[in-house]
Amino acid sequence: ESKRSGKNKFTFFDKELSENIMRRDKIEKGLREALDNDGLHLVYQPKIDINNNKIAGFEALLRWHSEELGFVSPMEFIEVAEERGLICKIGKWVIERVTRQNKEWKKQGFEYGTISVNVSPKQIQNEDFIQEIEKIMNDCEVCPTLLEVEITENSLMKEFDYNVKVLKQLREKKINISLDDFGTGYSSLSYLKELPINILKIDKSFIDDIENDNNKKSIVDGIIQLAHKINLEVVAEGVESEEQLIILKELNCDIIQGYFFSKPISSEEVESKYFSGI
Ligand code: C2E
Ligand code: MG
Ligand code: MG
Ligand code: MG
Repeated sequence: ESKRSGKNKFTFFDKELSENIMRRDKIEKGLREALDNDGLHLVYQPKIDINNNKIAGFEALLRWHSEELGFVSPMEFIEVAEERGLICKIGKWVIERVTRQNKEWKKQGFEYGTISVNVSPKQIQNEDFIQEIEKIMNDCEVCPTLLEVEITENSLMKEFDYNVKVLKQLREKKINISLDDFGTGYSSLSYLKELPINILKIDKSFIDDIENDNNKKSIVDGIIQLAHKINLEVVAEGVESEEQLIILKELNCDIIQGYFFSKPISSEEVESKYFSGI
């Protein structure tokens, strides 16, 4: 009896594992097709300047609707893309698309600061990364200050020295760099001033429930004060309520991003909602 249930357990585990691999195979295949057939698209989430309620910029977020699997979250497919060697190609597509969007929106006279893109550590560690960005910028003749690169605190910490070297080169080219999901990684505050970044994005987990949790409020207060002392701009991500917004204003946060103001939306929606009538 015990032998039998042991065997069942193993079979169950085995099945789960192979289903997981099969799903990843499907995602990989689907992503390759999407890359070749224009099957990926971007949505844009506005970031708002807390002091004047104007659009500070947008974060570009990747979306993929698979014919076979339906909606797949970027959290899932980005991981597969990283594992299966597709992330550099996808990442390059994102930067190209965003650069063209910047060019188009600026041509139309829209006012905002930057569009940000998320980059994976594999992209940064690709030796062609800097050259590729340079070429995209030159081809499009777009001002580099319109681009912002988001890297998570955790990815930055892996291969720290190399990543910092590459990011420094981007900053020298006047591209903006933000540290994403700040507060979730294992980093000490003392190294912050050494980093070639100009923006800090406080992770959503610090904003959740900040209206009821005084410890969280104190931590965010400290982060914002420290960031300002070393000349970093502070973005709060995942702001979902007016109560949170009021507290962040009181704590001198610079920019907010979250469902309270807007979910990520298509470029057409951005144009009709925020840029019409200019
Ligand atoms: P992230 O860079 O931290 O992006 C923020 C995520 O939080 C987005 O999820 C956004 O839709 C969501 N979000 C924004 N405001 C709120 C809010 O008020 N409440 C809640 N519950 N969620 C909010 P999304 O679009 O599903 O992306 C998830 C993650 O996937 C991103 O986290 C980023 O790490 C990754 N990702 C997305 N696009 C790309 C990309 O083009 N390249 C790479 N390398 N990663 C990407
Ligand atoms: Mg991000
Ligand atoms: Mg984030
Ligand atoms: Mg996040």
